[in-house]
Amino acid sequence: MDPLELTSDTGCLAVARTWLWEVGQTLRIRFIDGTAEEREKVKKYAKQWTKWANLTMEFVDDNYAGDTDIRVAFDTSKPTCSKLGKSARTIAQNEPTMNFSNLVAEGYKGTILHEFGHALGCLHEHLSPAAGILWDKAAVYRQYRNQKKPWSEATIHSQVLNHYTNAQVEEGDIRNSSLDGRSVMIYSIEPWMTTNGVSFKQGQELSRMDKHFIAAIYPHPTDTPKGHNLNVLDENWGFPLYWASAWGQAHEVRRLLRAGADPNFQSGFQWRALHWAAGNGHVDVVDHLLDWGALVDVRSDTGMTPLDLARINGNQTIIEELEEHAEIQARAAAELVPPAGTEPATHHNADLPLQPIAVA
Ligand SMILES: [Zn+2]
Repeated sequence: MDPLELTSDTGCLAVARTWLWEVGQTLRIRFIDGTAEEREKVKKYAKQWTKWANLTMEFVDDNYAGDTDIRVAFDTSKPTCSKLGKSARTIAQNEPTMNFSNLVAEGYKGTILHEFGHALGCLHEHLSPAAGILWDKAAVYRQYRNQKKPWSEATIHSQVLNHYTNAQVEEGDIRNSSLDGRSVMIYSIEPWMTTNGVSFKQGQELSRMDKHFIAAIYPHPTDTPKGHNLNVLDENWGFPLYWASAWGQAHEVRRLLRAGADPNFQSGFQWRALHWAAGNGHVDVVDHLLDWGALVDVRSDTGMTPLDLARINGNQTIIEELEEHAEIQARAAAELVPPAGTEPATHHNADLPLQPIAVA
């Protein structure tokens, strides 16, 4: 397959085709052990993938008698890891296919998203031939040999240095495109681990590329209205996304966004879809709109922002989410215009533990 089939806006993640699950499949997931808190975190964050991938995650009870696809353990004596995609089906039913070594220290979210990315068939982003990372190999070996649970030379090679080949991509074993430095599937890489000082910080949220790519790999049936312009005002000065957001129709909102609805289109009163979703307390709709790039700092004709309306409505989840995104968007806007005379920023992540391995 031509690796360029995917354009940069549809994704930069890489997947191993052999190990992909069936599109639309339900994955049954059982916990081997773990506290109630650990289990809840895993459920919460793992399911973020299935907002985009056409897969269902069903977490079964401990006494579930049938076969399961993924089994999660929390064994502190073993590394954090996951089987790659449906290779998990080759493991005995009483054995884990995924392990979390120390979720508290690892900060939960990024680690859970990363390991479940492997469980859906995603490879390490830094192993992409498109990554072109110029490793300082001696520094890499030093780093991983000196960590608390040292890695063998073979592990360091397979997990960090041994990028898969363009031949594998061309033969269709692997599907990828250019490097996504914000992916949850990339390791944090310190500037001193590369010969040119390039560094990355592992994403703690699904990046836009992660979302769009996994949605392309496990696609939902397309029910896109053809030839219908979604971004025009109707006789009531609204538009499809506006009404669906007001009524809390999360599925419809997602469908419209996928079909090309502009998340920032304005009604006749300068209201946007996010004003409605925030004002009416529809958490899922707010999530979808933000994921697709809805702006937070926008004012209606009377000067109200979505956050103002969320505060009136009183939904704390939405208030916090909007506050967080307001900051992120303000920072992103500021980064577009670097102050004169400054060097490009390198991200130093000395305070972040390096993300542990996946066994595949
Ligand atoms: Zn990994």
